[in-house]
Amino acid sequence: MATPKPKSSTSTLQKSNHASARKPKRFRSAYSKAELEEIFRRFSVQRPEPKGELEHVNPFTLVVAVALSAQATDAGVNKATRALFKVADTPEKMLALGEEGITQYIRTIGLYRNKAKNVIALSRMLIDEFGSEVPKTREELMRLPGVGRKTANVVMSMAFGIPTIAVDTHIFRLANRLLLAPGKTPDEVEQHLLKVIPDHYLFRAHHWLILHGRYTCKARKPECERCIIADLCRSPEKTCDVPAPLAELPPQVIGVAEAVE
Ligand code: SF4
Repeated sequence: MATPKPKSSTSTLQKSNHASARKPKRFRSAYSKAELEEIFRRFSVQRPEPKGELEHVNPFTLVVAVALSAQATDAGVNKATRALFKVADTPEKMLALGEEGITQYIRTIGLYRNKAKNVIALSRMLIDEFGSEVPKTREELMRLPGVGRKTANVVMSMAFGIPTIAVDTHIFRLANRLLLAPGKTPDEVEQHLLKVIPDHYLFRAHHWLILHGRYTCKARKPECERCIIADLCRSPEKTCDVPAPLAELPPQVIGVAEAVE
C-alpha cells in the first residue's frame, strides 16, 4: 500500500497566506474606549490649539517645507526656508530660481541636492498639471516628486483642514511604545491610529502626538515625571505612575523649537 503523502507544507503556507490576505490583521490597543477618550481629553486641555512647527506662508510653501523636512529637524528647515520663501513663494518663482539657486538656500539641510531637484520637479508639475495650485487629494499630492504618504497627509491636514494622521518618527514611536496602536510600518500605525483615536479629537491628534513625542515622551529617555498621562500609560518603558499636573501650556512659539533628543 502506498504511503500517504505528508501534507505539503507549501500548500498549507499558501492557504494561510490566502487567509491572511483576505482578513485584515487584527490589532489590539492596550487602552479601553474610556481611557482613549481621557488621554486625548488631557492633550486637548494641555494644548488647545496645537500647531505644526514648519513655517510656511501658503499651501505651496508648506509642501516644499514638508518635502525638505525628511531626515531633518523642523527648526533646521525653518532656518533655511525663512529666506527661501521670501524670494520664492509660488511654483513659478521657485522654477525661476532654478536648482542651483534653491541649493544656495537649503545647503544646511541633509540631502539638499536631491531635495532641490524635487522642489524644481514638483513646482513644474504643479504649473503643468494643476494650474499652479496644490491639489487636495492624497492621490494627487502623492504624484508630486518627493511627496510620499506622510507629506501628503501633513499637507491635507495643515493646509486644507482634512483630518489625517501623518506618521512621522515621533508618532510611530509613541503608537508602539505606549501600545496605543502598535504596527510594524508607518502605514499600519496610521490605519490603527485612525481606529483608536476618538473621531472628535482626530483633527488635532496628529499635532498632539508629535508634540508629546518631541517634548515629553522623547526617543532616548521618556520624561515620565513630566507626563500628563503617566497614570494611564501602559508602556513597559515608563518610569513613573503619577501624572504631571494638567494645565494649559503657554502658546507655542513656532520656529524656535529644536527637536530636543
Ligand atoms: S508615562 Fe512615560 S512612556 Fe508613558 S507616555 Fe508618558 S512619557 Fe511616554
